[in-house]
Amino acid sequence: MRDTSQGAATGEGGEQPGGAQQGSTPRVGTQPVGTPEIARRDFVKAAAAGVLAGWLPAFRVSPASAQATCTAPPNFPSSIALYQQAYQNWSGEIQISALWTCAPQTTADVLTVVNWAYANGYQVRPRGMMHNWSPLTVSPTATCGSKVVLLDTTQHLTAVSINTANSTVTAQTGITMEALLTALEGAGLGVTATPAPGDVTLGGVLAIDGHGTAVPAVGEQAVAGHTYGSVSNLVLSLTAVVWNSASGQYVLRTFQRSDAQCKAFLVHLGRTLITEVTLQVGANQRLRCQSWFNIAATDLFGPPGSSSKTLSSYLDRAGRVEAIWFPFTSNPWLKVWSVSPSKPPLSLEVTSPYNYSFSDTVTTAEAQLVAQILGGDPSSVTTFGPLQYDVVAAGLVVTFTYDIWGWSKNLLLYVRPTTLRVTANGYAVLTSRANVQQVVNDFFTAHQARVAAYQAVGHYPMNGPVEIRVTGLDNSADIGLSGVGAGQLSALRPRPDQSAWNVAVWFDILTIPGTPTAEQFYRETEQWMLSHYTGSYAAVRPEWSKGWAYTTTAAWSDPTMLTTTIPNAYRTGQAKGDNWDTALATLDKYDPYRVFASPLLNALAP
Ligand SMILES: Cc1cc2nc3c(=O)[nH]c(=O)nc-3n(C[C@H](O)[C@H](O)[C@H](O)COP(=O)(O)OP(=O)(O)OC[C@H]3O[C@@H](n4cnc5c(N)ncnc54)[C@H](O)[C@@H]3O)c2cc1C
Repeated sequence: MRDTSQGAATGEGGEQPGGAQQGSTPRVGTQPVGTPEIARRDFVKAAAAGVLAGWLPAFRVSPASAQATCTAPPNFPSSIALYQQAYQNWSGEIQISALWTCAPQTTADVLTVVNWAYANGYQVRPRGMMHNWSPLTVSPTATCGSKVVLLDTTQHLTAVSINTANSTVTAQTGITMEALLTALEGAGLGVTATPAPGDVTLGGVLAIDGHGTAVPAVGEQAVAGHTYGSVSNLVLSLTAVVWNSASGQYVLRTFQRSDAQCKAFLVHLGRTLITEVTLQVGANQRLRCQSWFNIAATDLFGPPGSSSKTLSSYLDRAGRVEAIWFPFTSNPWLKVWSVSPSKPPLSLEVTSPYNYSFSDTVTTAEAQLVAQILGGDPSSVTTFGPLQYDVVAAGLVVTFTYDIWGWSKNLLLYVRPTTLRVTANGYAVLTSRANVQQVVNDFFTAHQARVAAYQAVGHYPMNGPVEIRVTGLDNSADIGLSGVGAGQLSALRPRPDQSAWNVAVWFDILTIPGTPTAEQFYRETEQWMLSHYTGSYAAVRPEWSKGWAYTTTAAWSDPTMLTTTIPNAYRTGQAKGDNWDTALATLDKYDPYRVFASPLLNALAP
């Protein structure tokens, strides 16, 4: 471990990460770091009491219990435990008390449940950790009387086995990414990029083309078995529950990646049930992650070539970046990961994930400001944003995490479930590596102008940060399967008609659920992005797990987006017979009774 008495490390170009004064007592707003904190979850319960009023905590109630609030689904197989349980997604925007839920112990149990559902006119919704924002699993208006049973994969469907001879891993889909990456690390294997939280399931991540942040740095050679695309691009084969007309039943079927039909299942939005996958992985890597909080947004997000501190210049140097820009602040929190086989002398070695403890909790001062925002004074964001920045800047220095080094898993997983529960929109902008800075600068300029226009009339819809990451696309050649192609519903599917496009810039804007005029702001952002990133410059696809298809009052609702714009984003430039419609037809073919569907999927993928 590094000697923590030393000062701030020197990064690229001799700059000092951060910019906090060494030796001074780090302060968070008016409070020193270390002020008693409350868990974010507790805070949200308290501060957002209005949102959560009447909400029942998670519990399990058996059908025979006196507490059961609904009649149990008829004829449910007695060999499989069935209970009522609350369903709450990450942001708390979906809260359903007492949905019927089961937790199969084996894949045979899974088939028993699915065939029961088929025979009894029910739907089965695979359920991982429930962290998805978009209501793909169930409608927020579902009740225990709805003809739907959740199938919880996290209890038992978590087996994993690793073949070190060919660097592959076979896992059931209820395993969390943290457990999967921990097992891989034990075998000397890893991935280049993965979603930031570890408590999401492999099944949930594959459903929505989960991604991290990575493109090759200038001169970087890809490591065998690694991809710069989504986790779905690592799939070598997968086993799905599919309709078999010969037997008149749902059965298990394994699709090899080379089977053209597999392209419909690699990213499927929950329109199927995947029980197991085999992934190609590669040699584990040591990474270094340096944080910077003294680079001006006007430099980082400035026009191409305008300074030596553009986001693109960091991509050139290290390939892996994330910018988190809090509202009404000047300097984003920039993380830069670099491949670093040996420990840089000034880096702090870390041996476990989630090293930014200060971003997993809410200070008392933050809690008060959020209460003010929710309590009718959204302009408090002008203090809240800078306070969030202060917490990060001070926290990075106090915990010496402005420069950390270790095995990839410990650097790639950095978001805990206790972080502030916010909602987010999300888009991938496909473009060429050469265009990244222009794409970022355009967004920055438009976002600033929009925030100012809202502020001018007293509105403050966005109280969380803008987050920007950059990934490669889903090239099957990354895992040695040149030409087999990518998921037909993957936001990272390459565009054959735009051969220069080799990256996606991911944009998210976060805000607390219920903030006035947020949906209107999100809609304007979405419409602007769709009209701006066009032609041979760039194209927009939604980030499936987050918010999209905004009307002025709600996400996932705009009919034109759902029925035309989004499907077209997966048709344009793709061969007929290998596009959005092909994916939907394949998923229908293998689930003609729509056992695996939900109201949002019925609107988007009818
Ligand atoms: C704080 C936070 C940070 C995040 N950061 C990232 C990030 O960095 N990158 C990123 O890509 N995503 C990120 N996400 C999004 C997250 O990866 C997705 O929401 C993911 O789907 C969550 O997995 P889950 O296990 O909670 O799935 P759930 O929410 O339970 O399910 C999501 C979807 O997957 C389906 N599903 C689950 N299991 C199966 C299965 N076995 N077969 C078929 N369908 C299945 C469900 O039916 C549903 O449609 C983040 C989410 C949060 C809350």
